[in-house]
Amino acid sequence: MNFELSEELQGLQAVVRKLSQDKIKPRARAIDATGEYPQDIFDEFKKADLLGLCIPEEYGGSGAGILGLTIAIEEVTKYSNVLGLMLLLTRLPTGPIMIAGSDEQKQRYLPGIASGEQRAAFCLSEPGNGSDVAGMQSRVVPDPEVPGGYLLSGTKCWISGGMQADWFVVFAKTGDPSNRSHHEIGCFIVDGDQAGVSRPRVDAKMGVRGIDTADIVFDEVRIAPRQVVHGGFSLIMQSLNAMRPVVAARGIGLAEGALMYATEYVKARPAFTKTIADFQGIQWEIAKAATEIEAARLLTYRAAWMADRGEFTKEHVPLLSMCKYYASEMAVKVSGLCVQLLGAAGYMEDHPMEQFYRDARQLTIVEGTSQIQLGLIGKGVIHHDLWWD
Ligand SMILES: Cc1cc2nc3c(=O)[nH]c(=O)nc-3n(C[C@H](O)[C@H](O)[C@H](O)COP(=O)(O)OP(=O)(O)OC[C@H]3O[C@@H](n4cnc5c(N)ncnc54)[C@H](O)[C@@H]3O)c2cc1C
Repeated sequence: MNFELSEELQGLQAVVRKLSQDKIKPRARAIDATGEYPQDIFDEFKKADLLGLCIPEEYGGSGAGILGLTIAIEEVTKYSNVLGLMLLLTRLPTGPIMIAGSDEQKQRYLPGIASGEQRAAFCLSEPGNGSDVAGMQSRVVPDPEVPGGYLLSGTKCWISGGMQADWFVVFAKTGDPSNRSHHEIGCFIVDGDQAGVSRPRVDAKMGVRGIDTADIVFDEVRIAPRQVVHGGFSLIMQSLNAMRPVVAARGIGLAEGALMYATEYVKARPAFTKTIADFQGIQWEIAKAATEIEAARLLTYRAAWMADRGEFTKEHVPLLSMCKYYASEMAVKVSGLCVQLLGAAGYMEDHPMEQFYRDARQLTIVEGTSQIQLGLIGKGVIHHDLWWD
């Protein structure tokens, strides 16, 4: 067993760490304050060739895989969670195409993401159902004019990057929407400029500001046969399973960033003729937080390594879900502690703690809530998917 990152990954980590310190750290608060899309940082990512980390070289990416993306996101989210999301969005909508798309679909949609010429979004959630995927109401019906084609209708909501997306991966029922059969769900690629696509509203959000979440409405959008990805419910699940470490990385980086900041603060803050850091009660809290961050990193790096080996099918779910569950809950806990360590200063906008805390709250909800992850882990334990002999 080798716990050391490869030379390539260490190099990537160093490059992203420097870019994060030089370009992201000074911008993070302003991006949150204005909520404006940080095109300047997108351009920096593009220049540094970071938009194709998880895309294979044959489709224009760098082939660093899920582990490479995980490591990059950990560095970026030490300072800005929304910019971690920007990198995450290079994998979330491309995942179903990489897993189940045809070579033609891969050639058509992946190089543009890797080069930064295009952006994409993943449309699964709907106003009436988030966790309950089988309850979705969006549907396709056969296109009477195009054999093998469909007409897609439905409303998707909370779609990250939906306003910037050049194309969408959309999931919809292929039969009666009231039928909960897993076999009647399909996956479709929709170009953002197609007739019938609209983006009528964006959400006002608690955190992760700078990349909007949006409603995306599909009104009888024409789906050509080339836009159909062969896969349904299990493709959704496999795509999300492979993403668990990528979301977890946002929690790890956030907790590291918060603890780095809070630790320097308590070392400098005088109290009772010492500094806050001199008190054992404070040191123990810092020690517990650091231990939990390391535990989350180990779970996450292993899950990323597994995902890169193609181990994101059902039997691998518990280990993948554990990293997302643990890292996102840990991020909420550690960022909450860090607010406390700064006292009143932690509550004020003069310091980034309140932003870390607001941003962390998203992570236990997106891409499968903590409760959904626990359900998946629990099922795996009951089925002896873990260490039973
Ligand atoms: C900032 C942000 C960005 C997002 N980006 C995207 C995106 O890009 N694409 C996309 O498709 N979606 C996106 N989402 C939506 C996200 O995936 C859903 O919010 C999530 O899946 C949960 O669905 P829900 O909000 O409808 O909660 P619900 O499913 O209504 O659940 C509400 C509560 O009930 C709990 N619950 C539900 N079912 C169970 C159960 N069986 N057992 C125990 N507890 C349960 C949940 O854990 C939760 O606490 C985003 C959400 C946010 C907040």
